[in-house]
Amino acid sequence: MVNLSELGEFGLIKRFSQQFLEDLPGDYTGIGDDCAVIPLNDKEVWLVTTDMLIEDSHFIKNKISAFDLGKKSLMVNLSDIAAMGGTPASAFLSIGIPAGSEIEWIDNFFKGIKSVCSEYGVFLMGGDTTRSPERVVINFVVLGRGIASEVKRRSAAIPGDIICVNDFTGDSGGGLQVLLNDLPEDNDSKYLVKRHNCPRANVKEGKWLSGWEDVHAMIDVSDGIESDIRRIMESSGVGAEINLDRVPVSEELERTAEKYKWNAREISVSGGEDYCLMFTVSEENADKLYLNYEKEFKRPLYKIGKITDSEHDLKFLLDGKVAEPTKHGFDHFR
Ligand code: ADP
Ligand code: MG
Repeated sequence: MVNLSELGEFGLIKRFSQQFLEDLPGDYTGIGDDCAVIPLNDKEVWLVTTDMLIEDSHFIKNKISAFDLGKKSLMVNLSDIAAMGGTPASAFLSIGIPAGSEIEWIDNFFKGIKSVCSEYGVFLMGGDTTRSPERVVINFVVLGRGIASEVKRRSAAIPGDIICVNDFTGDSGGGLQVLLNDLPEDNDSKYLVKRHNCPRANVKEGKWLSGWEDVHAMIDVSDGIESDIRRIMESSGVGAEINLDRVPVSEELERTAEKYKWNAREISVSGGEDYCLMFTVSEENADKLYLNYEKEFKRPLYKIGKITDSEHDLKFLLDGKVAEPTKHGFDHFR
């Protein structure tokens, strides 16, 4: 008998999803992308996403302020809308909360949510509130709108495409290590913790990128580059090569990693919760895209690899040679 821990989260989703995808009308996108896509009118679609955060599993109550937790809970959902190139519109919040929770904590949690609503023009329109025996459980559903012809799916990568990210990766993973190990506060560790507790959704960037026909597949990096490129690979039936030396790492993470003997490269590839965008773009217009992106956002895009035609095959390259992830980071094996 196989149990759930052997199957894993993705194995499980795969196991039950097929039966629900079979009868889906052709213009709908169901289970398997950052958002579901539901036709709205001739030009537009609804984008719908949901994410659940459970105390002690996704956050530790004394390691994040109630305000930041409220912000982050909504922000990670907006990030999924951003990943499809949409504009978030309405949010619904269901919470399970222990009877002994302090009202001040709850007020600050909602203040955090309100600040994100104001910043992104989103309305909290409903939800559900229940008593939870011990732990806080937070579940948002967010609706957004997108232009049907511009929505970017995980399934659209083409061999030869360049793989890009629009921010450093690994900061959040580093911040998590700082929190879990109670490391002393300095400017670098504070920066990393902030990147972990206060991610931002790249809604403007996602919308802008979705206007480019040459941008093919897009995803938000929630589980780390390695895991998330595999989702693009699987949905698109392609392979990928990631140049480890091109994955952008912040100076703060570099310095902190050196100090505590972490492998910054490993964290930048598999840390997770970065919530930046990763997308693929056709090689011929990639340079034009970079230049325009930099003009628009005053920040660069980072080319980190290439889509290949060898299905299921993910290669990491270091100094032009194939490298293999190990417990200690990445080792050359050829
Ligand atoms: P993300 O990381 O962008 O939130 P995931 O990779 O976690 O997305 O989820 C993959 C897909 O599986 C999504 O389309 C999501 O809606 C779907 N999914 C996950 N859990 C369930 C579930 N319990 N029932 C139906 N669909 C689910
Ligand atoms: Mg996502």
